[in-house]
Amino acid sequence: MAAAAPKAPLINNLNIWANRSMAFDTLGLSEKVLAAVDAAGYKEPTAIQSGAIPQVLERRDILGIAQTGTGKTASFTLPMLTLLEKGRARARMPRTLILEPTRELAAQVQENFEKYGTNHKLNVALLIGGVSFADQDKKLDRGTDVLIATPGRLLDHFERGKLLLQGVEILVIDEADRMLDMGFIPDIERICKLIPFTRQTLFFSATMPPEIQRLTETFLQNPARIEVAPTSSTAENVTQRLKATQSKDYDKRESLRSLLENAEDLKNAIVFCNRKRDISTLFRSLERHEYNVGALHGDMDQRTRMMMLDNFRKGNIKLLVASDVAARGLDIPEVSHVFNYDVPINAEDYVHRIGRTGRAGRSGTAYTLVTGDDQKYLVAIEKLIKKTIEWVDEPIDFETAAKERKARRKSGKPAKSTKSSNDNEASQEKPAARRRSPAKSRDTKQEVIQEQAEILNPTPVSSLPQRMGGKRTKNEKMEPAFSPGVHIPAFLLREPRPKKAS
Ligand code: AMP
Repeated sequence: MAAAAPKAPLINNLNIWANRSMAFDTLGLSEKVLAAVDAAGYKEPTAIQSGAIPQVLERRDILGIAQTGTGKTASFTLPMLTLLEKGRARARMPRTLILEPTRELAAQVQENFEKYGTNHKLNVALLIGGVSFADQDKKLDRGTDVLIATPGRLLDHFERGKLLLQGVEILVIDEADRMLDMGFIPDIERICKLIPFTRQTLFFSATMPPEIQRLTETFLQNPARIEVAPTSSTAENVTQRLKATQSKDYDKRESLRSLLENAEDLKNAIVFCNRKRDISTLFRSLERHEYNVGALHGDMDQRTRMMMLDNFRKGNIKLLVASDVAARGLDIPEVSHVFNYDVPINAEDYVHRIGRTGRAGRSGTAYTLVTGDDQKYLVAIEKLIKKTIEWVDEPIDFETAAKERKARRKSGKPAKSTKSSNDNEASQEKPAARRRSPAKSRDTKQEVIQEQAEILNPTPVSSLPQRMGGKRTKNEKMEPAFSPGVHIPAFLLREPRPKKAS
């Protein structure tokens, strides 16, 4: 076990995009990598990059406390590419391993290797769930320089004897606090023990809860600690506003539309919901109101999610109704607005959500719909970000709202709550323990398939008014859910098979 790490270089730089004191060519990167950085158009390294890159090149362990959006991915991919220029891969023995909590993040890191590794001939393989083992096996057999994996799928391959981890020289554990949220820590501990002790470990987390602290003390050796921005700090360049609304879904949808209509410089936006059931309802409603809209949540199959993200990135979809799966880590540059359809239950999710806009030095705007039931969540957010968020119009009178709630309770009329923590998004990649004994979810598999089919194959407008509980708008017409050319997987359009009696 590593001794308690001395407090090695600590960089605490809140202005992560204005690090003009250093140029890329002073960091020790190879010519090939510098050429790729130049081609990417980067002028100077971000704080996490100038802090981490020289340390990685010196083969030190890294403890990077940084969120996505800070240039964190390049802070490990660029020096890894430089180090990988020496040596070559052997069959089934990857030279480096990057662990990511979600498939999207893993795919994003792969894209980074393609972008920055354009002058290299390296084999990069992706091991994520929802893709056939056979294709992944073939890649492993060819020998991989960089293996990017989600922990569950990696262990599946290992258990099938298709993968040897003794050759791993560099291990990257990315988004460690997200791994914790998703129950991956036992898998991570197991993987760390399967890799030689002599490896170099690069560890990144946006926050440092005690479980993560313990992990770093166990598995890192004298790491260089680089901290760029505490999670509680919301980007300076994001304008944040609150909008009071009634708690009925119908009112919330109307308030959202009013914000969408009045928002300045709205180019594209992510609309976050707390519950995946609300995602499909809101998606259909916005579509009915002729918005160019897509949906994204963790129960959609991998291909559909990637397709949706891709269409959003390319601008084919302007509004993306999403769950928190989309909030963390995804690099979607140039999102002009974020709308919180629900106040997030976890204050930190607020920071992650609004961090989807105002990236890479651009400005952005985040609106949050607030109902009379949201006071405690709002208080927690403002406490975390250490500022009071301004209201667009009149603020909510929480006192009156509380009285009304009490009266409702007395009269026995249940208030329609939009909050239910157990209906929050389930993780799409399951930790080993959960994979073996699947946790019960409130949405049955059949419901989920049905929900996906509904999202991808919207209900004909003729049957919508009853379902929506509202009237048809004058301009309503039947339109495909997505832009032409977007393929809908056939299985999603099939009737779900009846369950076999067990
Ligand atoms: P990340 O934190 O890795 O998700 O990166 C956020 C975004 O910043 C990505 O779109 C990167 O392409 C971009 N980026 C990374 N490093 C730099 C840099 N030095 N200068 C400008 N943009 C960068």
